[in-house]
Amino acid sequence: MPIKVTLIPGDGIGPEVSTAAQNVITASRAPIDWEVVEAGEACIAEYGTPLPEYVLETIRRNKVALKGPITTPVGKGFRSVNVALRQQLQLYANVRHLRNLPNVPSRYLDVDIVVVRENTEDLYAGIEHMVGRNAAESIKIITREATERIGRYAFELARREERKRVTIVHKANIMKLSDGLFLESVRSVARDYPEIECDDKIVDAMCMNLVQIPEQFDVLVLPNLYGDIVSDLVAGLVGGLGVAPGANIGEIGAVFEAVHGSAPQIAGKNLANPLAMILSGVEMLKYLGFVEEAKRVEKGIEHVLRQRDYITPDLGGEAGTQEMATAIIEAM
Ligand code: NAD
Repeated sequence: MPIKVTLIPGDGIGPEVSTAAQNVITASRAPIDWEVVEAGEACIAEYGTPLPEYVLETIRRNKVALKGPITTPVGKGFRSVNVALRQQLQLYANVRHLRNLPNVPSRYLDVDIVVVRENTEDLYAGIEHMVGRNAAESIKIITREATERIGRYAFELARREERKRVTIVHKANIMKLSDGLFLESVRSVARDYPEIECDDKIVDAMCMNLVQIPEQFDVLVLPNLYGDIVSDLVAGLVGGLGVAPGANIGEIGAVFEAVHGSAPQIAGKNLANPLAMILSGVEMLKYLGFVEEAKRVEKGIEHVLRQRDYITPDLGGEAGTQEMATAIIEAM
């Protein structure tokens, strides 16, 4: 029986890259039945919110969604759909598989890193206030429970993907209590995974090492703020936004989406690189257990990137979004 997946096309370049990804995933022969729902600014007039309840309901029901980028309206008082989805569905792990791809411009070779970012607490818990008029406080929350959950996620991923090492990234030398608890809690989880090496690194040293010797890292696990920054750094190492897939994983569901935004400047022009969205779909296929189908898509992508005949302008080619997707399908 086909598995139902919620597809949120998004806006800007979202519909173009979502259609490309949907076509490629369907062509992988994965038995997926798409339930397409809209979210974002277009919903505000009709539903009074960019994230109508029925969208959340379909994800809760289907448990898996592939989502295109959504523009965050500036200064209209609506919360970002992405933040709302994360909170409503308790998507506690943000995961990015970032590796060098053939002919995708990068200064590095052999980068293959998974960044696992805790997604619910730390300085992003949103607890801040003014102290008088000239000072502000933001409170950093780290709990043993949330840290063990993200630590276990990272080690389970490492085990499943036969990865060798998990590096805990922190600043426990300065923030001895909060980051100290993060370090200690992930280390306690590591004891259950004796076959996987566990080490740790101070976040500033980590950033330097990532630009010097990125090929030496495997899985990184980080609290929310460092994870936000370091995951973009690693995306930059492998060629940037057009090729960076992402996943938000929770206990009741998972939402897969490209790292990039809605790129309004190139929307509707058939210029957007669909790879990040297609690779997010590959992560989704693996999550659903469709490993053969995921490999088929990866094979098509590798072929198209090596041939260079059907790649989008950001990769140095002249193909349109849909042409690139069609070439991937033909090479699968
Ligand atoms: P962006 O990622 O949309 O664009 C940054 C740059 O990268 C632009 O030059 C753009 O043209 C280019 N780019 C992005 N994706 C590309 C692709 N697939 N192919 C080729 N070029 C690509 O970031 P931004 O301009 O800061 O944000 C635009 C909007 O997207 C904002 O409203 C922001 O809030 C939103 N956003 C949404 C998400 C999401 O839905 N997950 C994530 C990030 C930003």
